[in-house]
Amino acid sequence: MRYLIAANWKMNKTVSESIDYVEKFREMVKDVEGIDIMIAPSFTALASVSPLLEKTSINLGAQNMFYIERGAYTGEISPIMLNELNVKYVIIGHSERRHIFGEKDDLINKKILAAVEYGLRPILCVGETLEERELGKTMNVVERQIKLGVAGLEREIGLIDIAYEPVWAIGTGVNATVEQAQEVHLFIRNLINDISKGNDSDTRILYGGSVNEKNAGELIKAKNVEGFLVGTASLDPHKFYKIILETLEV
Ligand code: PEP
Repeated sequence: MRYLIAANWKMNKTVSESIDYVEKFREMVKDVEGIDIMIAPSFTALASVSPLLEKTSINLGAQNMFYIERGAYTGEISPIMLNELNVKYVIIGHSERRHIFGEKDDLINKKILAAVEYGLRPILCVGETLEERELGKTMNVVERQIKLGVAGLEREIGLIDIAYEPVWAIGTGVNATVEQAQEVHLFIRNLINDISKGNDSDTRILYGGSVNEKNAGELIKAKNVEGFLVGTASLDPHKFYKIILETLEV
C-alpha cells in the first residue's frame, strides 16, 4: 500500500500565493517516489494550480463538494466542476464542515457516494471532540461516522480513504500520541474490514491533527497509520516536504 500525505490548506492562500507555493514545492518533490502526495487549495485557486501539477507526482484535491451535478445550489461546487480541473481527491466531512457549517452524517454520505460516482477519491474525515473522548465515547463516535458515512458503499470501500482527526488535535498544537492513534486506527481497520467483508485493503487510514515536521517521524511508525492529512504545517512548503521525507524513511 502506498501511503498518502495530504495537505489541507483550508481558507488560506490567494491564487498568487498558491501558484508561488506550487512552483517551489514541485521542484522539492520532483524525485520523490513511492508515496502519494495531494494538495487541496481553496476552490478559487484550483484552476490556476491544476496545470502546474501536470507531469508531476502531486495530485490535486478539493476541500469539499456538493453531491449534485448542477442546479440552484448557491455557493456550492459540483463533482463535474472538479472533474474538469483534474481534481483527484476530495476531503469530505472535515470537522470544520461538521462543527462550523453543521454538516450531518447523511449529507456527508451523499457527498461520499457522489464523489465515488464521479471518479473522485474521497477522504472521509472522522473524529471525536475532547468532551466525547473524556466521556469514553471515542469509538462510538468514530463507528457512527464511518458506518453512516460509507453507507451504500460497503464492498467498494477501497475507493475511499479515511482520515482519523480527533477534533481536539486539529489546529491546537496537541497531537494524538502514538498509542492513541494506534488504538483508534486499529479500531477503524477492523470496522472497515468487517463492513466491506475484507475488501478494505486499498483504503488508507490517515492521521490528522497537529502533524508537523517534528512529530511526523514518530506518528508514521504507529501501526495502521498509512499517511497524514496536514493542515497548519502544510502551509509552508518546506515543512510539508519534511513531513514527506519523514514518511519515506519508514
Ligand atoms: C486538518 O485540518 O485537517 C488538520 C489536521 O489541521 P492541523 O494539521 O492544523 O491540525
